Amino acid sequence: MRSGRTGEGSGCPREASQAEDALSTAAELFRALSSPARIRIIELLKARGALRATDLAQTLGVTVPAVSQHLKILQGAGLVRSRRQGYAVPYAVDATTMDECLAILSRVCDCGCRLVGGDGPAPPPGQPKRESANAFVVVGPEDLDVAGPVMVIAAHPDDVEIQAGGTLAMLADRGCEVVCVLCTSGNRGSHSPADSPVTLASIREAEQQRAARLLGVSKVVFLGYDDGDVCFNLGRLREDLVFQIRSHRPLSVLTHDPVGVKINYDGCYLHPDHRAVAEAATDAALFCSHGRFFYPAQLEAGLAPHRVTALYFFMSPNPDCFVDISSVFDRKLAAIAQHRSQWGNRSDLPDFFGRLAARVGAPVGLERAEAFKVLKRG
Ligand SMILES: [Zn+2]
Repeated sequence: MRSGRTGEGSGCPREASQAEDALSTAAELFRALSSPARIRIIELLKARGALRATDLAQTLGVTVPAVSQHLKILQGAGLVRSRRQGYAVPYAVDATTMDECLAILSRVCDCGCRLVGGDGPAPPPGQPKRESANAFVVVGPEDLDVAGPVMVIAAHPDDVEIQAGGTLAMLADRGCEVVCVLCTSGNRGSHSPADSPVTLASIREAEQQRAARLLGVSKVVFLGYDDGDVCFNLGRLREDLVFQIRSHRPLSVLTHDPVGVKINYDGCYLHPDHRAVAEAATDAALFCSHGRFFYPAQLEAGLAPHRVTALYFFMSPNPDCFVDISSVFDRKLAAIAQHRSQWGNRSDLPDFFGRLAARVGAPVGLERAEAFKVLKRG
């Protein structure tokens, strides 16, 4: 005689078979995701849309055959799909299967979080930080976790305001000392025959100082390299940046992403100064400033080695820290507007930079954001 129970655990062979199938599907999905590289691939596809195996390989720093193997496994589990477009075969996340994954996780998890269609796990008591379901850190005004003092190293006047102005304003508001190092004074940033490089440099330095004051930046240093001629060749630039780091002793450094400037074909990323500063600043902060045998003349002059504990890369294709800048967006705009030699003719600044901030925040559902790839010393 059959028991009268219904639903899960009933003796119904069809239901038992369906439950068995669901468990097999779940096991297959989790097997496919049991590799950090494959999770990283999913994160990249979610953040940047469809990508080719070669793009993924470059970003992850692994070979194309290795990425192809991972993609094959993800495709087998239905997590990723591909569609040939001419000679290219871009891969994208399969949204239906990802929803199934979330549904399975929400059945397994009993911590009270709202994984399906929600805002991610609830924060621990007393902690305002919100963590989204796709593992990106969403940082609000109250919980911006950047150790100070802070140094931002950029190629040109206005790079800082555009890429990190909101974040710097929030840090300055909480008393964090922010030093801004500009490698050039943007002395070739004009097409007007009325300008000369010398006068343009002095105009742009004044604009930068006004913008920095609006954001609350404590000090601006101009290294005086010629706009467009900044080179990274283990020469003077890296030494100059180590000197600045050893002099001002920041715990966190914000700068151009050395990976991002190499894998984007956008003119902004490809600017020679962005490429050079990204490499030199990363080397200076990560490897050289704390090394006693790098630039010993600086030590003889009284500077001590200094260890930077975190790097925040802007213009990154792989951001993992999204800062909600809604509360300071108007200040960011006002700071950008100080660069009249670059933006003076534009009447659409709020719309233009509003769209940019929205696009940056879209992966984590923020209306106005700046984003960084973060490296922290363990
Ligand atoms: Zn620039």
